[in-house]
Amino acid sequence: MRQFEFIVLGSGIAGLSFALKVAKHGRVAIVTKKDRAESNTNYAQGGIAAVTSKEDSVELHVRDTLQAGAGLCKEKTVRTIIAEGPARIGELIDLGMQFSEREIPESAGARELDLGKEGGHSKRRILHAKDITGREVERALLAAVAASPNIEIFENHLAIDLVTNQKLGYVGEPRCLGVYVLDKRSGVVETFSGAVTMLATGGCGKVYLYTTNPDIATGDGVAMAYRAGAPVANMEFIQFHPTCLYHPKAKSFLISEAVRGEGGVLKTLEGVEFMDKYHPLKSLAPRDIVARAIDSEMKKSGADYVLLDITHRPARFVMDRFPNIYQTCLRYGIDITKEPIPVVPAAHYQCGGVVTNLDGKTEIEGLYAVGEVACTGLHGANRLASNSLLEALVCAHRAARTVISARPKRVDYSIPDWQSGKANNPDEMVVVSHNWDEIRRAMWDYVGIVRTTKRLQRAEKRIANLQDEIQEYYWDFIVTSDLLELRNIATVAEVIIASALQRPESRGLHYNLDYPNPNPDWAQRDTIVRK
Ligand SMILES: Cc1cc2nc3c(=O)[nH]c(=O)nc-3n(C[C@H](O)[C@H](O)[C@H](O)COP(=O)(O)OP(=O)(O)OC[C@H]3O[C@@H](n4cnc5c(N)ncnc54)[C@H](O)[C@@H]3O)c2cc1C
Repeated sequence: MRQFEFIVLGSGIAGLSFALKVAKHGRVAIVTKKDRAESNTNYAQGGIAAVTSKEDSVELHVRDTLQAGAGLCKEKTVRTIIAEGPARIGELIDLGMQFSEREIPESAGARELDLGKEGGHSKRRILHAKDITGREVERALLAAVAASPNIEIFENHLAIDLVTNQKLGYVGEPRCLGVYVLDKRSGVVETFSGAVTMLATGGCGKVYLYTTNPDIATGDGVAMAYRAGAPVANMEFIQFHPTCLYHPKAKSFLISEAVRGEGGVLKTLEGVEFMDKYHPLKSLAPRDIVARAIDSEMKKSGADYVLLDITHRPARFVMDRFPNIYQTCLRYGIDITKEPIPVVPAAHYQCGGVVTNLDGKTEIEGLYAVGEVACTGLHGANRLASNSLLEALVCAHRAARTVISARPKRVDYSIPDWQSGKANNPDEMVVVSHNWDEIRRAMWDYVGIVRTTKRLQRAEKRIANLQDEIQEYYWDFIVTSDLLELRNIATVAEVIIASALQRPESRGLHYNLDYPNPNPDWAQRDTIVRK
């Protein structure tokens, strides 16, 4: 058994920020299922929303966030996270994070942070590193982690399940004691024990057929917390990013909202602008409205995609502001300075998650959750663009402060080793790959951008059947990462559907044709699912 004071599951912005802050107070294990930089964070393009300019204010950022959240945000949470954001950004800069800057006009060469604008924001407030903000965040945080002797990173280690006192048969308030972890290289399941376990495992885009998320985003944290008995909230609110590159060879490449922020316009294949029919902010309307508008245009015309056109901006500007998008599209034969970009909506962000307070505390003692895996109440029914990296930074700091002041003690339970029982080597991997495809397709077709109760019920039945099959497979065969992730996407699919069926209204990202309007009785009600 490996013993640490702090076990951190995940090496995105949430996990790394937390690990760095607690490392002076005890030994930290960062368990991460691929290489250390592979995370949703690494692919963030747009940037981090924070109030740093004189023209902006906390009040305006709060107002924009509440508006996007469609009545469901927790206002105290919103105010706290937004007010504390600038201090956390300052710390990131002190660590070496390099945000893009621009020359202040008529100032003899003085420079300031270059602030971008994205949908739903009333001011320019997005700090970014060109269009590779997340990569730069990971670079800066991982460099600091490398210089922290108290932190050990376990790459290619996949957390399977949380160990709780109740699972071990002890009575008393639920307490997390550690986690079982699969070393993907050796196939051995190890036990990690610690006083504090931090879930920083990110989101669940891979539950859907089309997603902007990388392969790691299989909702493992939500699934593990749910199995351990923690409540999970608001999982029906899945944000579909309106503009993912449409190309047969491009897997999950996002065309940042910032492209629309800088003037990019959505058009049909015939070159006709259509967003004026849907919202006064046109192409810069909130994401849910843009995604539904594209979905509706595609359904009407039968087209597989729509176009995003930024060719009217100077080529030099486009290439300099969006070097990564420009180069990537060029690799697929699209010169975005000369021709419009084919785009489709894709699952992007999980607004709900494991219920926590502002300090990342879950209902299970010793278990914390921060970042996309958590539901603090910041996003409500819809996330305002670039608020997620901000939330992860602020809540990781607050969680670190809380656990340090609580002086975590070593756990004195004895945790049994993982039991493989009579499990055999899997004989038919086709079962696993088939079920992966079936779940993702069912979720896309029945639990996507526009829902109906009948389709949700249909999906519920399908997923229940698949769950039985997966459980059987899980107990009969030696675990592999594909099987464990399959079990997790099935669990998360079940939770999303259960949440969507609980909410008898349309609000924010949850749009049900059988209840097309918001229901005032549900304005401040979270949907809670627990085992
Ligand atoms: C393409 C794209 C662009 C985006 N752009 C922006 C943006 O501009 N601004 C913004 O605010 N947000 C953006 N987002 C959202 C934002 O990137 C994420 O919400 C945020 O990075 C989540 O951080 P995190 O630390 O919670 O999780 P992640 O960064 O996803 O990290 C999760 C970590 O957990 C690990 N992990 C998962 N499961 C396990 C397991 N079972 N065992 C061990 N390790 C595990 C993963 O390997 C990974 O290291 C974007 C997302 C995507 C996909």
